[in-house]
Amino acid sequence: MTVLIKTVNELKSKLSECNKPLGFIPTMGSLHDGHISLIKVAKDECKTLVLSNFVNKLQFGQGEDFEKYPRDIESDLKICEDNKVDIMFVPSHEEIYPNEEIEIVTLPVELTDILCGKTRKNHFQGVATVLHRLFNIVNADFVYFGEKDLQQLYVVRWLVANKSFSATVRSCPIIRESNGLACSTRNKYLTKDEKDTAANIYKALKLAKGNVRSGIFTPGKATLESLVFLSKIPKLKVEYFEAKSKNDLSPVSEKKVSGFYFLTAVHLSGIRLIDNIEV
Ligand code: AMP
Repeated sequence: MTVLIKTVNELKSKLSECNKPLGFIPTMGSLHDGHISLIKVAKDECKTLVLSNFVNKLQFGQGEDFEKYPRDIESDLKICEDNKVDIMFVPSHEEIYPNEEIEIVTLPVELTDILCGKTRKNHFQGVATVLHRLFNIVNADFVYFGEKDLQQLYVVRWLVANKSFSATVRSCPIIRESNGLACSTRNKYLTKDEKDTAANIYKALKLAKGNVRSGIFTPGKATLESLVFLSKIPKLKVEYFEAKSKNDLSPVSEKKVSGFYFLTAVHLSGIRLIDNIEV
């Protein structure tokens, strides 16, 4: 049975007597197959598993969808029970940010001023701040993150390395809908037709990877080719499509044929979708 816990004190007392290793999956709820894949990986190596379900206001910018972000605690609890999550932690804003007294985490600009960070100012600072707080509360042995939010994964690794957390970070592959669209809570905003249109995002990523792997194009030329492909899809508006090194998300040399990612953010009917592919 999954225990639903709402306060930090109750969670800490419950965890003081839990079996180790302890696993932790931070989420913003509205759980889908992407989240479930993380749960499955975590269940394989942990004796106790905590999943947090908290829509973190700090990581939403002005005009973003904080208010209307999908929330469905009942369905999330059912998914947690079906997948044998031990604890679902559902704190209030005040519980996580008591009297707003909280250490705001400052990240290196190399991580925040690229890709999603260019348009989502302070987003990753908000992510790092809530994770810093949650990691301190849960004190897990393993933490699980999806490669779908790739830039976030690099932020998490930085956080663990630089804020003396002892947890091991596990990254989990992207889970996709049957048409290739990466599973995301925001897919709930899309109609069936819009989802078909959004499937072209993954097609563009596969096109770029194929063009590099077959030696037809350099990463830069492959990027341009995929941008042309996406520009022909009505209603899709590309925010960025870039190649970044696997090592540290720095720019990729034109000589590279592997060891990097193509990453993209695309807007469709006012919804922002992100995806990436490893080359
Ligand atoms: P979120 O609730 O969107 O904050 O996501 C919580 C965790 O689930 C993050 O580590 C995400 O990267 C991961 N996640 C979300 N969607 C997917 C997906 N399609 N495949 C794998 N992991 C995912």
